[in-house]
Amino acid sequence: MISLTLKFLLLTFGFYLLIRLAKRALRRWLQGLLGGEPQKTSLGAELLPCSHCGAFVDPKLGLHKKGKFYCSQDCAQQGPAVP
Ligand SMILES: [Zn+2]
Repeated sequence: MISLTLKFLLLTFGFYLLIRLAKRALRRWLQGLLGGEPQKTSLGAELLPCSHCGAFVDPKLGLHKKGKFYCSQDCAQQGPAVP
């Protein structure tokens, strides 16, 4: 009777491992279909504070002037905010 219980336990454990492996393989296969690693969105990009108004802007959308970063041409013309 003991060997039967052991067989059942081994079978259950083996089945559990098989399902885990299948899940992992399936996930990898799906990632491959979707084009590998997830792409970075603009939301994930680092934002810089405007030297004039303090608004946080994507560095690609703002502009640099005299070593400072500004969110727009208007802010760049007005210069850095006076504390
Ligand atoms: Zn600004």
